[in-house]
Amino acid sequence: MAQIDDLPPLREVIATHGLDAKKSLGQNFLLDLNLTSRIARSAGALEGYTVLEVGPGPGGLTRALLAAGADQVIAIEKDTRCLPALAEISDHYDGRLRVISDDALKVNPTSLGIDGPIRIVANLPYNVGTQLLLNWITGDDWPPFWTSLTLLFQKEVGERIVAKPGSKAYGRLGVLTGWRCHSGMLFDIGPKAFTPPPKVTSSVVHLTPNPSPLPCSLKDLEKVTQAAFGQRRKMLRASLKSLGKAPEPILEAADILPTSRAEEIDVEGFVRIANAFSGN
Ligand code: SAM
Repeated sequence: MAQIDDLPPLREVIATHGLDAKKSLGQNFLLDLNLTSRIARSAGALEGYTVLEVGPGPGGLTRALLAAGADQVIAIEKDTRCLPALAEISDHYDGRLRVISDDALKVNPTSLGIDGPIRIVANLPYNVGTQLLLNWITGDDWPPFWTSLTLLFQKEVGERIVAKPGSKAYGRLGVLTGWRCHSGMLFDIGPKAFTPPPKVTSSVVHLTPNPSPLPCSLKDLEKVTQAAFGQRRKMLRASLKSLGKAPEPILEAADILPTSRAEEIDVEGFVRIANAFSGN
């Protein structure tokens, strides 16, 4: 294991503070500092950035982010058992770590008074990961408050985020992400790297905001993709009936064949459908 600082090894931290993993909090800890350093490096340059981390747990990734030069890490952790371990990291790194003891779903990052650019880096708890991603990519303000997202998901979720039309993984998440972001899968991490090991492989996904997404109402894009992928095997002339407006004129205005199926339509096509649905 790489020595990145003079703090105790993570296994010792977990034993000292009694941080037995809780399944209900999606706790699968990364204890290999080579891996956490690799994730930190894959986020891009960290000097000059504030990093927002969700779920620092015992602080493996947090330490890697600080060692990699982040000006400041703001870490939101729901499990109060982790606070003493995180306080030790904060002391060691001269207060560059600020811990917020809360549920990340309830914290509005723009209210934290952060100056300067922000990168979000996290080994996300599997039970709230997708919702957090949706919160970050569907904000009203665009470009958003963050410069990049470097996130660990279950591989299957990562594949849905970066999915392109025609693939099995392509769905609502891929359209919303593809509309607002540039995204890519960086590398996989097998179950054995985690304590305790999860059942599935994980993947690191990197996203940056598309500064000028095609003009469209987010609400209508969400409605249209929900209807289309809610019955993905049906032709759009059938699946879009649930929108409460006749699908054929909408599809004609969007220049989409009514016999097409959701997974054949690219992001631009969905934007045209959403705009036709809005009446634009
Ligand atoms: N970052 C650590 C690592 O890589 O070893 C822990 C990652 S673990 C997959 C997820 C972490 O998120 C846990 O520490 C868990 O307590 C925390 N967590 C779970 N739900 C949360 C929530 N709603 N808000 C903030 N933290 C949460």
